[in-house]
Amino acid sequence: MGKIKSINPANEEIYGELKETSFSEIDKIVRKAKEEKKWAGKSSEERMEIVGNLISLLEKSKEELSKIMALEIGKAIKAGRHEVEIAMKRVEAFCKKIPKFLEDEVIFEDDIEKNIVRFEPLGVVSVISPWNAPVFVSLANIIPPLLCGNNVIWKPSEYSSFTGLKLAELFNELKKFGLPENAFQIVIGGKVVGKKLVESDIDLVALTGSIMAGKEVVKNSSEKLHKFVLELGGKDPAIVLEDCDLEKAVREIVKSATMYTGQVCFGVERVYCARKIYDEFVEKCVEETKKIIIGNPLDEKTDMGPFAVKFQMEKYISHIEEAIQKGAKLVYGGDKLKEKGYFVNPGVMVNVNHGMKIMKEETFGPVIPIMSFDKIEEAIKLANDSDYGLTASVWTSDLRKGEEIAKRIEAGTVEVNRHGMSKAGCPWGGYKMSGIGRIYSKEGVREFTNIKHVWVVKK
Ligand code: NAD
Repeated sequence: MGKIKSINPANEEIYGELKETSFSEIDKIVRKAKEEKKWAGKSSEERMEIVGNLISLLEKSKEELSKIMALEIGKAIKAGRHEVEIAMKRVEAFCKKIPKFLEDEVIFEDDIEKNIVRFEPLGVVSVISPWNAPVFVSLANIIPPLLCGNNVIWKPSEYSSFTGLKLAELFNELKKFGLPENAFQIVIGGKVVGKKLVESDIDLVALTGSIMAGKEVVKNSSEKLHKFVLELGGKDPAIVLEDCDLEKAVREIVKSATMYTGQVCFGVERVYCARKIYDEFVEKCVEETKKIIIGNPLDEKTDMGPFAVKFQMEKYISHIEEAIQKGAKLVYGGDKLKEKGYFVNPGVMVNVNHGMKIMKEETFGPVIPIMSFDKIEEAIKLANDSDYGLTASVWTSDLRKGEEIAKRIEAGTVEVNRHGMSKAGCPWGGYKMSGIGRIYSKEGVREFTNIKHVWVVKK
């Protein structure tokens, strides 16, 4: 197998190199995972006790993990710390909620018969992760199948494998609390390694990544006919009504669009703003965007580091250039900042339309393209004019109206007066090409189980 070369995106120097896991090693890892039965044999409360120890291990490693993310993917150090903190909260919430989701359900009982539904471990679950939130997104996808009693084989992204190896060390430490030897294993590599894992004798693959990778996983799962859960990309709209709290809407939309240098699946990628407040909204977005401190990810003051990978920066610039060629106008930013490193200025764009990639394809970069609308019907139609459907937001002080609009938007999560949050216990996943299946909620967690009907005839 090949080697993975990790480039520090702030200076374009090599941060480190790693050997990819070979196919024969993957076969061995899968075999070991299939043979491991102790973990499935534990109760969900016992599993929760063991996995819960990860929270203090994450706290102890917070600085180290944040530093690795800064060097490996250019994440601002304070954003990295925040990511570890929200991951800790998510692990805690899963440990509290998941055992309840797995309790037997008695569907029917009378003197004659009883029907029980049980949620049993599937077996081996492969979790394949992206690089943009390598601690939070990875743990949010590893912990539920693990708590369900599955043995997990995890492949971090080839662009965040050092963060992945540090997390794997923490799972290794869980062994002294009772995690069996092969209940959690890691493989290192890119899409070839991912494909090999998908084609292996596993029971489910949980992929978080691009639509392209999602399509390949569907195709490659067909031979073994195993299950899959796909959490894919987004092109998330925000609809801003004239009665909104404008200051709040601007602050939150700019934050969502520029967080992690815009490399967030649920970040705002397009805005539809009521014409009456359009000029003021654009002006305020520019003011807010100017406040963002761009710089060395290791610097405590930095809000936004460079793009994690060069191809992301190139895509960002090409989307902006294509929009300008078709008549859009950059009212702020959108340019490359330094000779070395993948640094850009966050951009604010107007005169955009749905004939441009910037309104139709996932940019995964810090740019806010803004269109105006006269009637809400128009805004809803534009918001739904997309192959994606991960999240969306509506900004209004009329909460009833907000809820009504939310019902008509084709997205897995629609927020009123906020953008870009998920919650343990509530479903997470996409409409349309943004994914297949749900995670985090009762029905999401149960995706990682075999659902069995036990029918007891009493007389
Ligand atoms: P990617 O699709 O390139 O890679 C994601 C992971 O899949 C990596 O580990 C990669 O090695 C692996 N992979 C790629 N092709 C594969 C294949 N054929 N078989 C098996 N594995 C394969 O995505 P990325 O660039 O790492 O991440 C960015 C994408 O992830 C964006 O589209 C973003 O919106 C999405 N994302 C979605 C969510 C969500 O919750 N829906 C969360 C984070 C990121």
